[in-house]
Amino acid sequence: MGVELWWGLGVLGGGGSVVGLLWLLHRDRWQRDLLRESALRLAELKTQRHLALVEEQSKQQALLDSMVEGVLVLDEQGRVEHVNPALVRLFGLGPEVKGQPLANAIAVPELADMARRTVQQGRLIDQQIHIPGGDAPLTLQINAVALRDPDRLHAGTLLVFHDLTQHTRLAEQRREFVANVSHELRTPLSLIKGYTETLLAGAKDDPETATRFLQTIDKHADRLTFLIEDLLTISKLESGQVIMNLQPTALRDVAAQVIEDLRAKADEKATTLRNEVPGHLRVHGDGDRLQQVLSNLIDNAIKYGRPNGRVVVGARSLHEDIVEAWVADDGVGIPMEARERIFERFYRVDKGRAREQGGTGLGLSIVKHIVQAHGGEVRVESDLGNGSCFYFTLPRVNEAAP
Ligand code: ADP
Repeated sequence: MGVELWWGLGVLGGGGSVVGLLWLLHRDRWQRDLLRESALRLAELKTQRHLALVEEQSKQQALLDSMVEGVLVLDEQGRVEHVNPALVRLFGLGPEVKGQPLANAIAVPELADMARRTVQQGRLIDQQIHIPGGDAPLTLQINAVALRDPDRLHAGTLLVFHDLTQHTRLAEQRREFVANVSHELRTPLSLIKGYTETLLAGAKDDPETATRFLQTIDKHADRLTFLIEDLLTISKLESGQVIMNLQPTALRDVAAQVIEDLRAKADEKATTLRNEVPGHLRVHGDGDRLQQVLSNLIDNAIKYGRPNGRVVVGARSLHEDIVEAWVADDGVGIPMEARERIFERFYRVDKGRAREQGGTGLGLSIVKHIVQAHGGEVRVESDLGNGSCFYFTLPRVNEAAP
């Protein structure tokens, strides 16, 4: 600034000698000023660049931290340089992995092999790998790319991990479900077809045989109807299409209605049905859906109960906000290893016996969905050979509350 000013004055004044003198007098100061000013400018520029770099780095960090995909950066020696939080969660990594060779940091041989091939081939490699890992198997889609510095020299490897575990599990469950449904539909259909063909081939001429065959056809047609009804119910419940109409409901009345409906079936096996639900207990529930829950549980209790057995429906308040209800039988019981699985679609302990009893294999799955849609839980206790008791909880109408 000072220099430009003196120079300007000199030129404007036209006095060359005066300017020359002034120049000599002030030269050192001007030069110092000039130097200081340039140094300041340089420092300012550096600070600005540094700040921009820091900002850029923190943006990149935030981006990596917020990614659902796991990110792993290896340095040019193949050692771990950076892992983002998603990758830490995926493999349960600790901070000690930094600086370690990949094979030591993550004990999955396919990964080290993939990183090596990426460097060798110098192109993007993608691969799906399955890591068995006992209780928590993983299915991962990994993209790996070699990193180059501005001189095109190898500077490391970047690996991005997409967790497909949930997706694969769902696809597997869907495939299994379709296979089960097809099988369940085909069995009664082929029986109906078989009996019809036998009737047409001549069995119809013997009235006794014809009646027996027609009864069997009728039974299997019913089974098909139940299966389709249950499938529709499951599909509606799972897709959240069923809206629970929660009303204060007296559980004893619901149980009484279901017992009434199933009395004839119980009589066939001389099973006694007892309603021990206290009359004063009221729950926030959808009456029709609760009827479906109790109907499935009591129906099972009769089916898998012993002849001349006893089925008891009971309930108690577990807490001022929760009612626990149960259906107990003194039948075959359920083996320990099957107790969790019986709530899965189509899981049966004894396939032959369950089909013989006309079950669809979907009843308990429907029960679980309905109870959960009420905010409750369902569980079973069983003494193999001596009986089972299915418990479920429901929100209680707290009569004392204002
Ligand atoms: P299903 O139509 O086969 O009865 P569910 O989903 O209702 O289907 O039940 C699944 C399986 O759980 C049954 O096949 C049976 O093996 C077992 N199960 C259910 N309830 C009882 C019970 N009260 N006693 C013994 N086993 C039972």
